[in-house]
Amino acid sequence: MAHFDTFKLLPPLKQALIALGYKNPTPIQEKAIPSIMAGADIVGNAQTGTGKTAAFCIPALTALLKSPEKNALILVPTRELALQIEKFWLGLNQFCKEVDCVSLIGGVPMENQVKKLAKNPRLIISTPGRMVDHLQHKNLNLNKITLLVLDEADRMLDMGFAPQLNEILHVLPKKRQTLLFTATWDADTNELAKKFLTHNSERIRVGETSKAATTVKQKLLHTTQDGKRDLLLEELNANPGSTLIFAGTQAKADRVAEFLESYGIEVNALHGGRSQGQRKTALRELREGKIRVLVATDVAARGIDVPEIAHVINYDLPQIAGDYIHRIGRTGRAGVTGLSTSFLAPEDQRRWDEIEALLKKTDSSVPKAAHAKKLRAANVADLAPEAELVKAPKKPTRSNPKYKRDNAWAKGTVSVKPAHEQRIKPKSK
Ligand code: AMP
Repeated sequence: MAHFDTFKLLPPLKQALIALGYKNPTPIQEKAIPSIMAGADIVGNAQTGTGKTAAFCIPALTALLKSPEKNALILVPTRELALQIEKFWLGLNQFCKEVDCVSLIGGVPMENQVKKLAKNPRLIISTPGRMVDHLQHKNLNLNKITLLVLDEADRMLDMGFAPQLNEILHVLPKKRQTLLFTATWDADTNELAKKFLTHNSERIRVGETSKAATTVKQKLLHTTQDGKRDLLLEELNANPGSTLIFAGTQAKADRVAEFLESYGIEVNALHGGRSQGQRKTALRELREGKIRVLVATDVAARGIDVPEIAHVINYDLPQIAGDYIHRIGRTGRAGVTGLSTSFLAPEDQRRWDEIEALLKKTDSSVPKAAHAKKLRAANVADLAPEAELVKAPKKPTRSNPKYKRDNAWAKGTVSVKPAHEQRIKPKSK
């Protein structure tokens, strides 16, 4: 098995990796770190969960520590991913004179970022939209960037950031090293790689990246749009533990969260329509076990690192087949067995066919569709929380100002059980 020692890392980095508990490099780190340290442009096919953050941060910090004239820019699709990378960067810096870093993300005022930029940080982590805002305000120039990382490039394109990426490309120095990471590969990512990277860039694939994790037990249940809510309660009841639910739209994520809260479940929602503060709170609450359920959209769920999720529920199937593999990869991490349940309404069949084709193509296991146990109407009506266990909150509504305040609606529930133990049970007759 490879060891970090083989990379001849600087002593403070070695020390930091020990402190972070990283003993052996993951496959993407093993392949990418030596190539990046040798100065190559690379395309890495890897998704969240493979250790790609360290794969580019370790060589980036090495370069910045060795050469004071070098500076780096990391472009990411979401605010969460930016903050996650910044956190790792600080951890990696803990035993050396810190190489300053700033995150330029939307949803927060620009002034603070401008103040930090005035100190010439040597690493900038930014979403493309906010970077273009700063460029237009002439808050920074990128002519000292020597290393560029495009992280989750496929997602940046999915989110419609191609025009911003082009704008940024035009103000970057031509002489630089570029690293592009993507979970999926298609004509658009290929085009982006052609624009940003040198022709002889190295392609690094990590075998399991586009394959469903074998540690995840996949379940597929036939239902109808109307039947999804009852089925959701059933699933939550049958499978205790922290749960991440994926909904198709922001509004739907809110509605599902409201519905669950009306059953006394500790829940919050994570999507692009919520403020930066609300998103951070939602993630912290899940991490700390204050809520059991997080209802999210794909975009918001990118880059979040919540290792303790027991169950992923696809309330709505994703529009992009590759996202199915991303989603279910949020559970079953670090070798622990996880469960994923997908709801299949008749109108979702086309989406499922695409997912099934992708699972087959990537040699992943394909779940067989099963019919959920038919719920009798009487049972559904009785699926209310037991009065002595959970005090039901006042049903939140979108017009209720309480709902709009950061997390206030999630605080409306009072549970006497820790969130991870919460179960909803039919009331005994
Ligand atoms: P990433 O794919 O960068 O989001 O990393 C996924 C998770 O794996 C994070 O929780 C990292 O802290 C962890 N990780 C990354 N590399 C290693 C390593 N070499 N050893 C142990 N954990 C790691």
